[in-house]
Amino acid sequence: MTILDKKLETAKTVLILGHVRPDGDCIGSCLGLYNYLETVYPQIKAQVCLEEPAGKFAYLKGFDQISTLFPQDTSYDLCLCLDCSDESRLGEGIRGLKLAEDSICIDHHITNTKYCRENVVLPEASSTCEVLFGLLDEEKITKETAECLYTGIVHDTGVFRYSCTSSKTMEIAGKLMDKGINFTEIIDGSFFRKTYVQNQILGRALLESITFLHGKCIFSVVRLKDMDFYGVTSKDLDGIIDQLRITEGVHCAIFMYEIEPQIFKVSLRSNTELNVAKIAGFFGGGGHVKAAGCTMSGTIYDVINNLSGHIEQQMIQLEGQKKEKEDDTCTTE
Ligand code: AMP
Ligand code: MN
Ligand code: MN
Repeated sequence: MTILDKKLETAKTVLILGHVRPDGDCIGSCLGLYNYLETVYPQIKAQVCLEEPAGKFAYLKGFDQISTLFPQDTSYDLCLCLDCSDESRLGEGIRGLKLAEDSICIDHHITNTKYCRENVVLPEASSTCEVLFGLLDEEKITKETAECLYTGIVHDTGVFRYSCTSSKTMEIAGKLMDKGINFTEIIDGSFFRKTYVQNQILGRALLESITFLHGKCIFSVVRLKDMDFYGVTSKDLDGIIDQLRITEGVHCAIFMYEIEPQIFKVSLRSNTELNVAKIAGFFGGGGHVKAAGCTMSGTIYDVINNLSGHIEQQMIQLEGQKKEKEDDTCTTE
């Protein structure tokens, strides 16, 4: 019996929370768990609370049951925090966690602060959906639950491309496919399909991108006024960082968008040993070694200057380590 089952045996009311600006893994894991509870623990009253989720995930069962209003004074028996590395990333959900009798965090961020009573954190897992799969009874996963979990895995692995994808990830994806899900539509519909304006803003961000540190870094920014001009929100900016990352010769990609005047949500991606979780962590954010994020304030110039200082420092360190290794092999040979 897993720790999750043990706690669910006695809980009557369950609150499911994720992180601010929920992504595919966050929404997929929250709804995957919600649907699982509905079939396996029908006596439990469960509620998913998240910030406004993107409409492209509306095909997931339970999507219309997500509440964007967070509990203010209701005390749930058990609070489950998914895909969220620290308390501050729960946003308004923090109150629900504090009021709950008991809590479990299910996550895969290396920067997780283990802020719940029980914490199931597997940094080697591709996604929270992968961690969650390991806690569920495979036989009891319905097609609808499988759709949620598959969606999360697809989003956090960039459709099985990122280095977080393991043979275990593929095995789990295969088992979810065996539940009869329409995987091609999930991948096209929720990951690749773009509206006309989403393509326009992607094009604009690529056109205005700049490279620095001898082409090893690429950077682009979308300002509030650009978002207003195209009539887009932050949810329309998915995929821009992915395209920047695959630019030939690039070691590190940076994409940021303005959330308030001179306050930027920053995304960092690495193609090398460069640890972007460390850089994001320095600026109060977090994430994974090769994909991390943080919020920074100041002018665009300030932000980029601060980030590039840290990137360059790590690059010099890595170069030094590489050289030391080479020298070692030379002397031992
Ligand atoms: P993003 O660039 O927003 O796609 O995020 C990349 C990874 O870093 C995801 O796993 C996020 O959960 C994590 N992340 C992004 N922003 C933050 C932040 N401010 N604090 C902690 N983790 C973050
Ligand atoms: Mn996430
Ligand atoms: Mn995740």
